[in-house]
Amino acid sequence: MKRIWEHDKIAYGGDYNPEQWPEEVWQEDMRLFKKAHIDIVTLNVFSWAALQPSEDEYNFEKLDKIIKLAGDNGLKICLATGTGAHPAWMARKHPEILRTDSQGRKHKFGGRENSCPNSEVYRIYSVRLAEKLAERYGDDPAVIAWHISNEYSGECYCENCAAAFRRWLRKRYKNIDEVNKAWDSAFWGHTFYDFEDIVVPNELSEHFYLFGKERTTFQGISIDYRRFNSESIEECCKLEYDAIRKYVKDTPITTNMMGFYYPLDYHKWAENLDFVSWDSYPGPDEPDGHIALSHELIRGLKRDMPFCLMEQTPSVTNWHAYNKLKRPGDMRRLSYQAVAHGSDSVMFFQMRRSTGACEKYHGAVIDHAGREDTRVFREITELGEELVKIGDKTLGTLQKPKVAVVFDWENWWGISYSAGPSILIDYHEEAYRYYNAFYKRHIPCDIIGTEDSLDRYDIVVAPILYMVKEGYDEKIREFVKNGGSFVTTYFSGYVGDSDLVYGAYPGKLKDILGIWVEESDALPEGEENSFIYNGKQMPARVLCDIIRPEGAEVLARYDKDFYKGEAVITKNSFGKGKAYYMGSCSDEEFYDSFIGDIAAEKGIKGIMDSQEEFDMLDITRRYSEEKAYTFIINHREDGRSAVLDMDGTDILSGKAYKKGERITLKHNEVYILESMI
Ligand SMILES: [Zn+2]
Repeated sequence: MKRIWEHDKIAYGGDYNPEQWPEEVWQEDMRLFKKAHIDIVTLNVFSWAALQPSEDEYNFEKLDKIIKLAGDNGLKICLATGTGAHPAWMARKHPEILRTDSQGRKHKFGGRENSCPNSEVYRIYSVRLAEKLAERYGDDPAVIAWHISNEYSGECYCENCAAAFRRWLRKRYKNIDEVNKAWDSAFWGHTFYDFEDIVVPNELSEHFYLFGKERTTFQGISIDYRRFNSESIEECCKLEYDAIRKYVKDTPITTNMMGFYYPLDYHKWAENLDFVSWDSYPGPDEPDGHIALSHELIRGLKRDMPFCLMEQTPSVTNWHAYNKLKRPGDMRRLSYQAVAHGSDSVMFFQMRRSTGACEKYHGAVIDHAGREDTRVFREITELGEELVKIGDKTLGTLQKPKVAVVFDWENWWGISYSAGPSILIDYHEEAYRYYNAFYKRHIPCDIIGTEDSLDRYDIVVAPILYMVKEGYDEKIREFVKNGGSFVTTYFSGYVGDSDLVYGAYPGKLKDILGIWVEESDALPEGEENSFIYNGKQMPARVLCDIIRPEGAEVLARYDKDFYKGEAVITKNSFGKGKAYYMGSCSDEEFYDSFIGDIAAEKGIKGIMDSQEEFDMLDITRRYSEEKAYTFIINHREDGRSAVLDMDGTDILSGKAYKKGERITLKHNEVYILESMI
C-alpha cells in the first residue's frame, strides 16, 4: 500500500497565510487549530514577494518563524514554493516574464499564474527560490510534502513562446515538409517554407470566437499549441521539482490540480509528480455523480495510490454569481465523498479569512469574526474529532475497479476545436453520462488516459474517441481479442494524432466494431430522433450516425426521418470479446439500461448489488490487504436505504452490522463499514 506522505491519519487542515496577519494572531490560530483537530497546514503559497524583495536579496526570517510555530505546535507542513505569482519588481525590471494573451495583448503586472512559462528569467528565479527553500527547510521533520506553485493555469502567446513553439515543432517534426503534411497546410494555401514562418495560433492568426466558443481555422496547429503550452508549463513545474530534489531526498512533491481543467494535460503531468492533489470546488447544484467523476479523474492519474484533496471550501466560495452556503452537514458529506473516492486528506482553502482582495469573502476555518462559536467552526471541529477516530485505517487503501472510462486531453482539444459537426458535442459531459451509469450501480470505475494499460479491466468505455492516436487501436484490438468489452460512440475514430482524417469512419476501429459510418446528422437543441432499446423508446440527440454494419449485430434502429430503420447501436463479436458502438447521444435512462446490460453480460456487479433498485446512494469500497472499507453516503434530500453485502462495523459509530441487514441513511448521513476480507 502506497501512502501519499508520512502521516498517521487522514490529513486535516489547509492553506494558512499567517504572513497576512500580525504575530499576535498566530497564537490564537494555533489554539483554534488544536481545538478543531487540525494537523496540517499548507504554507508559503503566495510568498514570493516577501521572500525575494529584490534581484539578489532573500529574506526568510518570517517564514522561519512560521515554520517553527507550526512545527512547535505539532502541525505537519505542506510547504509551497510560492511561485504562483511573481513579485512586482520582477515584472518592472524584466517585462519579458509577463504573459501575452490570445488577443495578442501584452499583460502588465497583476493577477496570478501570470508568468510566461517560456521566460528564461521566470525559470531562473522560480527555480532559484525553490532551491533555496529546499536547502533551508528540506530537513525540517514537520515538512511532509512539497507543493509546487499553485493551480498552474492558462496560456501564453508571447514572442518567447512563439520561438519556443518553433523549437518544439522542429523537435517533433524534424523538417518543415512534415509540419505541412501534419497540418494539411495546402488547405487555403497556408504552406510554410520555413519554421520561421510559423506564428502562434491565437486571435491575431487562426483563432476566432463563434457561438461563444474558441474556434480555429487550422486544428493541427491549434492542437499542437495546446500540447506545447501544457508541456511548457509542466516544464516549469519539473524544473522546480528537480530543484527541490537537489536537497530533499524522499519527501514527496506535488502541485495542486483543478480536475477537468482544459488547458493542462494532467495525465502527462502526473507522471512527474510523487502524488496527485487537487482543489475541489463543486457548484452548489452540481450532481454528486459529477463531483465523484472529478475525484475519479484525479484518482486515475495515479491508479495505484490515493490522492490528496488539497483544497475545498469549508462553507462558501467567492467567484460564483451567487455564493450559496454549504448547508449544515454538506461540508462533512463532501469531505467523506472525497475520501470514499480515494483521498487520504481533507483540506481547506483557507484557514483564516483574509481581510482584503478577492478572496476575503471566500469561506475559512476561522471567519472574520475570529470566533469558535460559529456553525462552520463547530462543524469543522466535529469532523476533526471523527477523523482522529478513523486514524490510519483507510490510508493507502485502494479501490479495485474492473471497469474504466477513457478521458484524454488531446481528444478533448481535438473535439472542442472541431469545425462541425455540432457545437453540442461535449466530451466531458459524454464521459459523465457513461461514468454516471456505473456510479449509480455502485460499480467502481477508473478514469484512465490513453497511455494506461487496459489489462486490469473487463469493460472499457471510450466515449467520443475522436482521435485514435498512433497504436491506440492496437491496444483496444488486443483488449477485445482477449475477451474485453469495449464501448465507443458517435464521432469516434475520425482522426490520428495530427487531426487528419483516416478515411471511412470510425477509421482504425472499423474492424473491431464491424461497422462503418456513412453520414452523421447533427440535430439542433430541442430536436431529436428516437429508437427502441429494451422495449422502451429512447431519444437520439446531438448527432445521429447512419451506420453500415459489416459483421456487427444491430441492437437498435432509428424510428424516424429518412434514416428510419438504420442502425443506431451495434455490437460486434471480435476475438473473445465484444465491441459496442452507440451512434447517438441519449438520456440517463438509456445509459442506465445500456451499461447495465453490458455489465451483466460480463458478470460485473455493483457493491451491494442485492438492492432491488438504484437507491442513488454513493457507495464505494477501498481495500487494504486484510480489510475492506465500504463508504455509503446519502447526498439526497430524502432517506435512502441499502442492503449490506458483508458483515461490517461502522467506524464512525462503532456499531456492528450483519450481511443482509438493511440500513437507512438520512440526508448527509455517512457510514464507513470496516469488514474483514
Ligand atoms: Zn510566453
